[in-house]
Amino acid sequence: MKIAVFPGSFDPITRGHASILRRALPLFDKIIVAIGVNADKSGYFPIEKRLEWLNQTFSDLPQVSVESYFGLTVDFCTKMNASYIIRGLRTSADFEFERSVAQVNLKLVADIETVFMLALPEYVMVTSSIVREVHKHGGNIEQFIPEEISI
Ligand code: ADP
Repeated sequence: MKIAVFPGSFDPITRGHASILRRALPLFDKIIVAIGVNADKSGYFPIEKRLEWLNQTFSDLPQVSVESYFGLTVDFCTKMNASYIIRGLRTSADFEFERSVAQVNLKLVADIETVFMLALPEYVMVTSSIVREVHKHGGNIEQFIPEEISI
């Protein structure tokens, strides 16, 4: 069984994330969308809310589950029997960063491969940090977040 983890902060989930997840579905039998919890950084939206929004967004997909984890992504993958990590690439800056993370992960655990999916052009500018900024200042974020949720 091909199991993948799609890790991230999802603070909050955007249409960009949802698009990557749905496009990755045919590649795997099961995908675990997982919020990596950072003890030193609490984030903008509470973890419970972020999990709820992920669950609502993907509630139509029985092969998708939603989790959170502390610690290293590769350790979480091992625990979940996942051999693949899904990451999205928007820009060359994403690529440079993601390359280092993926190469370090390969050094840590050689048999977990990172699979990169290119962002669709219409989602390249959709980032959680911009959505947070718009939300903080009272702007309408509806067009950036999945239709299944309201924030
Ligand atoms: P992290 O803090 O781990 O980068 P994010 O929630 O920001 O977590 O992103 C999770 C993953 O989704 C990352 O691989 C990121 O590159 C990807 N991603 C974020 N926004 C988009 C988007 N608009 N299109 C495609 N991939 C995206």
